Amino acid sequence: PFTTLPTLLGLHATHRPDHPAVIQDGHSLSYAQLNQQVDRAAAALQRDGLQPGDAVAICAANSIPYVIMFLGALRAGMVVAPLAPSSTPEGLLTMLRDSAARLFFVDGAVEQALEPVAGKIDIPLLSLDDSRPEQGLSGWLADARPSPVQLEADTLFNVIYSSGTTGEPKGIVHDHQMRWAHIQRGIAFGYGPDSVTLMSTPLYSNTTLVSFLPTIGLGGTLVLMGKFDAQKYLELAQEYRATHTMLVPVQYQRIMAREDFDRYDLSSFQMKFSTSAPFHGELKADILARWPGGLVEFYGMTEGGGSCMLVAHQHPHKLHTVGHPLDGHDMRVIDEDGNELPRGEIGEVVGHSVAMMTGYLNKPEKTAEAEWYDSTGKRFIRTGDVGRFDEDGFLTLMDRRKDMIISGGFNIYPSDLEAVLRQHPDLDDVTVIGVPSTSWGETPVGYAVLKPAASVSAEEILQWFNAQVGKTQRLNRVILTDELPRSAIGKVLKRELRDRFQEEFG
Ligand code: ATP
Ligand code: MG
Repeated sequence: PFTTLPTLLGLHATHRPDHPAVIQDGHSLSYAQLNQQVDRAAAALQRDGLQPGDAVAICAANSIPYVIMFLGALRAGMVVAPLAPSSTPEGLLTMLRDSAARLFFVDGAVEQALEPVAGKIDIPLLSLDDSRPEQGLSGWLADARPSPVQLEADTLFNVIYSSGTTGEPKGIVHDHQMRWAHIQRGIAFGYGPDSVTLMSTPLYSNTTLVSFLPTIGLGGTLVLMGKFDAQKYLELAQEYRATHTMLVPVQYQRIMAREDFDRYDLSSFQMKFSTSAPFHGELKADILARWPGGLVEFYGMTEGGGSCMLVAHQHPHKLHTVGHPLDGHDMRVIDEDGNELPRGEIGEVVGHSVAMMTGYLNKPEKTAEAEWYDSTGKRFIRTGDVGRFDEDGFLTLMDRRKDMIISGGFNIYPSDLEAVLRQHPDLDDVTVIGVPSTSWGETPVGYAVLKPAASVSAEEILQWFNAQVGKTQRLNRVILTDELPRSAIGKVLKRELRDRFQEEFG
């Protein structure tokens, strides 16, 4: 059996018309209302001459109109290109062209940020938040039903640009069949008509979609929150009796660090999810101990090679791992030359699944670089991550290949050093990068953010650190900073830190 998100939305509107579908800042749309708005959006796209298969770009903060346009484009058989508002104006221009979008939906803030390249955008711009009343959504939506469009398993659903954590963003295409797999997976995690998902990650990211899809697809309620704030998150969770949530590790960290955490009633939670970035075992343990409901970590990539899952509440002794491959996913580890390594050895992780991208949009050479074939010709996607499977098949991740440090011929895994540095009682946040060194090739440098009341010096931290590790793992320097640079989805941008180091000390 196969069905699509727009079809499911229509069914929920028929069977539970008054059930709240999406809520933000006290505004709420029932399933009947959402379905009707989605119809109006699809009809407006058709009226404007867009054809099935055309791309529609959206770049905005999470909002109800965003959800309407996303679903409206799908209903009209179009491909959604959700773009990150944190991108540079030039980056957005590149993604608009690469996706061949025919219409571009923005909010007021994005429109302002686009000013420097406004003259180069050659497709119509529409405003989602009516910041441009003459081109606002309310006037644009059609007062009609769309003509029905048949969606097939391989009808394209979205093109998502990879986070660009390590390089230029690459367009990754998903079809309705792959997204149906994400909706179905939600059933096992208890998503359904009575689930309430509190969502505070941006809609343009795959991380968010894997929680957005089962919520709407299975008829639950989606509570959107704007910019993340730990206190507001806890208040909303309590107010709406949230049952499901997807947070990235840094958000969990901020929430658990609140002194008033234990005062909130979070007993409604059934399942919490995390993905995107390293999630430390101690943090997982703290969540399991103090936050009701289960905890599941996913490891994967937008490209959709293999994915691992750690059901943390069932495997309290494996919290340092990202779990084992999902059913139907095959994952292996290879060396620098592309040879498969026996279980237990460290190498680059490659993955195969039914939900693999066919390739990067318009980038055949990047696609070829990302592929690996086993001796039987089975196709895998290279993750760029270094890791090791233990004897029980659980994967421990070290680092991204591009972040590994080779110093005086030794491989140094920044994650090992970060685990030690994180133990310092005065530190809130830490990371380790490799910087060029004339004697060693590369050498490790630590960046640390102090806890609010702490007053230890960088030199003291350095001495404390170097007293605990072997000679080859010593840090060359510790640099105190107010905040680590992070992407909008909470990944530490090591590339940016390396550039910053070069500018200041290089
Ligand atoms: P780009 O490919 O453009 O550099 P990106 O790799 O950050 O960006 P995504 O597809 O969003 O883009 O992220 C996938 C990557 O995120 C993985 O390759 C891995 O490095 C990291 N990641 C995902 N899940 C986890 C996890 N559970 N633990 C640690 N790292 C994770
Ligand atoms: Mg990647």
